Formats: sequence, structure tokens, C-alpha cells
Amino acid sequence: MSQDTTSAVVDASASAGQPGSATGAEKGDAFENLLHETRKFAPSPEFAADAVVTAAEYEEANADRPAFWAKKARELLTWNKDFDQALDWSNPPFAKWFVGGEVNAAYNALDRHVENGLGDRVAIYFEGEPGDTSIYTYAQLTEEVKKAANAFESLGVAKGDRVAVYLPMIPEAVITLLACARIGAVHSVVFGGFSSEALRSRIDDAEAKLVVTADGTYRRGKPSALKPAVDEALAHTGDGNGHTVQNVVVVKRNGQNVDWHEGRDHWWADTVGAASAEHTAVGHDSEHPLFILYTSGTTGKPKGILHTTGGYLTQTAYTHKAVFDLHPETDVYWCTADVGWVTGHSYVAYAPLVNGATQVMYEGTPDSPHQGRWWEIIEKYKVSILYTAPTAIRTFMKWGREIPDKYDLSSLRVLGSVGESINPEAWMWYRKVIGGDKTPIVDTWWQTETGAQMIAPLPGVTATKPGSAQVPLPGIAVDVVDEMGESVPNGHGGFLVIREPWPAMLRGIWGDPERFKDTYWSRFETMYFAGDGAKKDEDGDIWLLGRVDDVMNVSGHRLSTTEIESALVSHPAVAEAAVVGAADETTGQAVVAFVILRGDAVDSGDAIVQELRNHVGKEIGPIAKPKAILVVPELPKTRSGKIMRRLLKDVAEGRDPGDATTLSDPTIMQQIAISLRK
Ligand code: ATP
Ligand code: MG
Repeated sequence: MSQDTTSAVVDASASAGQPGSATGAEKGDAFENLLHETRKFAPSPEFAADAVVTAAEYEEANADRPAFWAKKARELLTWNKDFDQALDWSNPPFAKWFVGGEVNAAYNALDRHVENGLGDRVAIYFEGEPGDTSIYTYAQLTEEVKKAANAFESLGVAKGDRVAVYLPMIPEAVITLLACARIGAVHSVVFGGFSSEALRSRIDDAEAKLVVTADGTYRRGKPSALKPAVDEALAHTGDGNGHTVQNVVVVKRNGQNVDWHEGRDHWWADTVGAASAEHTAVGHDSEHPLFILYTSGTTGKPKGILHTTGGYLTQTAYTHKAVFDLHPETDVYWCTADVGWVTGHSYVAYAPLVNGATQVMYEGTPDSPHQGRWWEIIEKYKVSILYTAPTAIRTFMKWGREIPDKYDLSSLRVLGSVGESINPEAWMWYRKVIGGDKTPIVDTWWQTETGAQMIAPLPGVTATKPGSAQVPLPGIAVDVVDEMGESVPNGHGGFLVIREPWPAMLRGIWGDPERFKDTYWSRFETMYFAGDGAKKDEDGDIWLLGRVDDVMNVSGHRLSTTEIESALVSHPAVAEAAVVGAADETTGQAVVAFVILRGDAVDSGDAIVQELRNHVGKEIGPIAKPKAILVVPELPKTRSGKIMRRLLKDVAEGRDPGDATTLSDPTIMQQIAISLRK
């Protein structure tokens, strides 16, 4: 499609109101383009009857939040020393949970299950990309973690020291995290897809003493290296002041040749393999740092988010049980997130094991060696709970339902989503095609900073709505407020905030308490500002509308990216969509949409663009009609699958796109440029 045609398609005045007619702003609404979704799916009576959690939890939590969480902390965890106080909020925004308590995360995830006679239960079914598999029972995983704990201690790692982890999705990643937690060392995982420079800056920021990595992994059927990035990073750490890293432990995964630094580098098999399997887990203070995790950098310089032990474990374990309706004796759980993201921490390395669940771990990509790989894995292990991201679901929609239809997915009973808003049409597809039109879908809103899920339906309680995360979890005080910090009435939009401290909340930004206060606690002084826009529908259910930074202002009307994108995706010709606000002389900003069409719609040209504009007008209202719709082959996404609207805004405003180094595929911006020049 030519750019000429694109601009000819649109008459800005047709879609925009009069400049200055800021009715929304006067009402105090942050958003005006509110989609109306009326579909609802109540839990089946059988599901509700057998559900782990009932509606009574909301009342109990509302009556006394800290007491509710204290009860959960004692129910779900085994404490070396009981705590004296549930919450200390005497120095906001610095919270302390379960004050005076002592607890060991690894003991809770491992040893106690073995002591309780569950040593033979499978903890991890590992599926390597090339098809190799291994199984770890709780007894075996406990032994491996004890050995790794001994090995790390023998390399001089002590309580409080930081350990950088740069590993693929293999069991050693979980073993490393739990071994660190066991000895009180603070892990800092850097996603294996990040560059040596990203690794270097994170090693330096946290002053890591040990790095745990692998020779490499497999990606799309080919070996892919990791160790060279570590060597490169370590050659530049410390900015000339000498560096903190003393040792590197290397897992042999794909057998590639690696450079070896005698004295510094140690094979995992030699150090961990030779270590003793006797190791006693001592209790650590409830507020002892558990890990640092740098946010993905969708919006700016990565922040080292700090999480501590007791509160984090309590809320991750509780939500994992309640939101997925976990029955650990019978369920097989699979979370597809990489351990490099917070989801891979909370809902792979910690909560499932603390809850004694059996989980699947898969190393590779969904299309290797074929596009049915995930469904094959679900059939093979009889996965009953699947937790994944909307970007994956939209990709599967694009590939077509014939692929999952070939597999037996009848074991599935709960489907989860995280990372972005799930467009209603993707939600419906997930439920119908993957879930056989019977599984509840739980859309979970949370952040690296929140540590655990915050807004989500309870599958045995809530009647679910396609596209909405709906309700704050029991014990969580979420609200949507206007510019003045006043709660908005139902039917209106605004800023998502959290009114009360929660157990898994971040305790700060590593080494930067001021940035912690500025980023989250200055917009509304007494409330946590999440940075996301949201609305309450007529029932009071919460809908996430995208990041506040991405909100568009068209002639004084503030519009949400998410809802225009959802409207576009609800058209049968559209596979994916991203919307940005581009500077516009008349309207301040104009809505510009980038769409990927489905296979059979690719050549329908300008007619489709007009049709899509009308479709958005019909679904939301004329104000939301995109001024331009650009058909592109791909969208720029971060490695965790989120659309990088910042780069699209550069394109829409005719600039060279800025820093694209965190893209999953750095060539995508060129592909987009070429497609628009045609
Ligand atoms: P950065 O903070 O560096 O820009 P990031 O916000 O992408 O990175 P994460 O903490 O992984 O890093 O993502 C949290 C954000 O993801 C939320 O603030 C929200 O914008 C989005 N998000 C997560 N889950 C959902 C969901 N279920 N619905 C809508 N948005 C979601
Ligand atoms: Mg964020």
C-alpha cells in the first residue's frame, strides 16, 4: 500500500471532534472510547462446587486485610520462626510484612514436601526443544538444590551476595534460583535473549559476585550461544574499577565450544555435580531480599525491582492456588513464561513448587519443529492449567485453528493470560478453540513491581467477561481514580492505583530509593501509581486500557490504545493491531493504526482500510476512527511479546525509529519501513 493512498483515505475532520471540545477532560475522565462488551461466562456448577476458593474470601479479606494475609502466610508457608506483626506501614512507602518472622523459600518449595511424604511426586516435566526430556520428582529436585547451594557457598557466595543468572528455560534455572534463596543470596536473572551489554549493566548495577549461565540453548531447531555474551560482558564490567564477579558456573546444554577462563569458569557438572547433597535450610528474615529483577524496559531505563521473602511467597502461593484453582494432587500446570520475566519467577520457580504442584517446563519456541508443538506438549502431559500471553494467542489465531484442532486438549480446565490486555476476540478464541468452550479464562493483571497477580477473576466464583481482568483479588485494594485521585464512578475511566500495601509489593528499586518514590508514589501521594489506564464498567469490573504514557489526545478527547486495538482485532480481516497517537496540526494528536491482516485478506488493499475505519467507528464511535491505517507484515515487540508503540510512533511521525535493541527481532523496523514504501 502506498503512503499516498493512506493519507488520502482519511479526512481528519471526519473523525475528530472540534479542537478544544474537551468534554471528557471536564468530566475528569481519562478515556472516552469505551468499548461495550456484554458476553459473560459463569462457572459451571461442577466447577464451582469443587473450587479451591469461594466468594467468602472477599468478605474475610475486606474485614481485615493484614489479618487475612497473616492467616494465608501461616496456612501456605512453614515458618522457622513465627512473625509478630502482619504489616508495618509506619514508614510509607516502605512496607514490612510478617515482621519478625523467619522463613526459607527453598525449604517451602522443596524439603517440606519430601518430609510430608510427597518426595515421589513429579515437580518438573522438562521438555527440551530438540525433544529430549527429563523428569524431576520433589525428592530429586530437593537434592539438586542442596548440591547447588553447597556448590555456590564453596565458591564464596554468602547470604546477601548477588548472583546473576543468564540461563535458558532448563531445570537448572529453577535449581539456581532456589539454591540462591536457600542460602540467602539474591538472584538477578537476566533474560537469555538480552545482549552482553544488557547483561553487563545489570551485573554492574547489582555488583554480582557469581554468574550462572550455560554454553547455550536451542532456538528454532538450531543451537544458540549464551556463554560468549557472558565473556563479553565480563570483559567490560566494573568500568575499569575491577569487577565484582569472581566465578562463573556453566551448564552444558547444547555442547557448543566455549572459551574458558581457568580459575573463573566452572562446569556445573563438576561443581554442583560433586557437591554434597546434605544442606540444612536456615530461616531468613521475612524481609530478607529474595531477588532483583529489571523491568523489561518497554518505557525507559530498566529499574532493578527488589522483592523480599515472606510477603512475596505468601501472595504468589495464594494467588497461584486461588486464580488457577490449583488441585496439586491432580493438576498438571504449565506456565510458558521464560524465567527471565517476573512471571517465570513467581509462577514457575516459586509458587507452583511452594504449592506442591506438578509443572511442565519447555525450553523452546512454539513453532519448533512444527506449529503444533505446544498442543502436542499439552496432549502428552495432560496439562490441565495453561498460563500464557495474549501475543502467543494472537499468533496461534493467525496460524489457524486447524493446528490445535489436531490434538487432544480435553485435559485443560483453566486457561490464564498475562502481559497485556487480551482483546475480546482473542479471549473468545482461547476459550473456544483451546478450551473447548468450557474452560474459565483468567486474565491476570499485575507487574514486575507487584510481584504477584493483583486483578483477576476467581474461576469458580466470577462470571468472566472477554477482555477484562475484572476484580481485585481478595486482600488487594485496587481502584481507578481521576486526575485528582478521586475514585471514578462505574462507567468511567482513569488511572489504575493500589490503595493499600500488599504482601508481594516491591520493596524498592535497587540502590535508588528516590526513583522508587518518584516513579510510583509521587503522582498520588498515598496511593501506588501503576502507570496503566483503566476503566470500571457498569458492573464495576476493571478493564485495562494500556499505559498512561500511550494515551492519545485527539481534539481534547483522551483515547485508549487497547480499546481501539481490540475493535480492530474484532474485525475478521485483522490478525493483530497496534495503535499510536501521532502529532497532528489540527487535532493535537491523530490515531494511527498499524495492522497485520490475516492470510486471506492480505491483498484487499484500500477497501479494507476504509472498512476498518468504519468498523472502529461503529464499535467505539467516530472519534476513535484512525486517521491512518497502515498495513504491515509484523509489529515490533519486546522479547516478552509486548508491542513497542514508541517505535511505531516514530514511524507515524516520520522520524527514524529510536533504540530498537530490545526488540525480539531487530529487523522488524526495516520490514515495516519497506512495506510502507511499496
Ligand atoms: P517497563 O516497566 O520497563 O516498561 P513492563 O511494564 O513491560 O516494562 P512488566 O512488569 O513485565 O514490564 O509488565 C507489566 C505491565 O504489563 C503492566 O503495567 C501492564 O501495562 C501490562 N499488563 C500485564 N498484565 C496485563 C493484563 N492482564 N492486562 C493488561 N495489561 C497487562
Ligand atoms: Mg512497567
